[in-house]
Amino acid sequence: MKVYLAVPRGFCAGVVRAIDIVQLALKKFGPPIYVKHQIVHNQFVVNSLDELGAITVENVSDVPMGSNVVFSAHGSPPEDYEIARSRNLKVIDGTCPLVTKVHNEAHKYSKDGRKIILIGHKGHQEVIGTMGQEPMELFDDREDKELPSWNKEDPVVVLTQTTLSVDDTEKSIKSITDNFKNVVVKNDLCYATTNRQESVKVLAKKVDLILVIGSSESSNCNRLRDVAIDNGVQSYLINGSKDLDLDWVKDIDKIGITSGASTPDLLVDEVINFLNPDEVVEVKITDENVSFVLPDEFK
Ligand code: SF4
Repeated sequence: MKVYLAVPRGFCAGVVRAIDIVQLALKKFGPPIYVKHQIVHNQFVVNSLDELGAITVENVSDVPMGSNVVFSAHGSPPEDYEIARSRNLKVIDGTCPLVTKVHNEAHKYSKDGRKIILIGHKGHQEVIGTMGQEPMELFDDREDKELPSWNKEDPVVVLTQTTLSVDDTEKSIKSITDNFKNVVVKNDLCYATTNRQESVKVLAKKVDLILVIGSSESSNCNRLRDVAIDNGVQSYLINGSKDLDLDWVKDIDKIGITSGASTPDLLVDEVINFLNPDEVVEVKITDENVSFVLPDEFK
């Protein structure tokens, strides 16, 4: 059996920064450091930080008064910062700068008088954070896609969740620009999302099955599996070898492996070791040299 390994895969710069922030906060302020929502959508990462003294909670109101809290990479609505102030919490912001960019676009275009449509998935943490920034309508590409009943001439801006399917987002944007006449499109899919999906498309031409390593809660992992299937290859999203059904791989000679932006590479290595292939070939589509500065506390 031959394994084709996607490059780039795994951690993006926003995830590296968010994990670094929790580790640096633990060092600087000592445990416990509270984390609002999973710092990134991967249970292995969350458990590793919890072992060092991080405590993950779902609501800011669950953080004890006067504590230190890191807000997750997905971004948070303004209410969360208000609750933190009222509880005298020290907030260290782990929001990915590429998500903050979307928040800033919402403020700018709202001030310019444009109505905002956000393409995204209802209930995802990033969407909750972005929708809290300004009044906006959600366009969810998984549901009956209903556009707002605004006047066709109204000035509109389209923003997107950062981790959606590139192809589905293009279709969603087209249906919006077909309907409204005065539309500014800000396609906010991030470089990591775009690169990982592009590399799955290349893998799909070479292999009979693609395993995506990562969490079922991770939007970008789910999209990698969807992209593989849309490109004609069977694909499964697994946390590690314990989720692997040997029937899936028993007659397969060429397996593609990739991982989402929140998946540590050691989980990928664990699956490869379990499969014990004759050969591992990297399939590289591009280099990634992105990194983000840390918050002022840690500079
Ligand atoms: S997937 Fe993109 S937007 Fe999300 S944390 Fe990574 S770089 Fe930032």
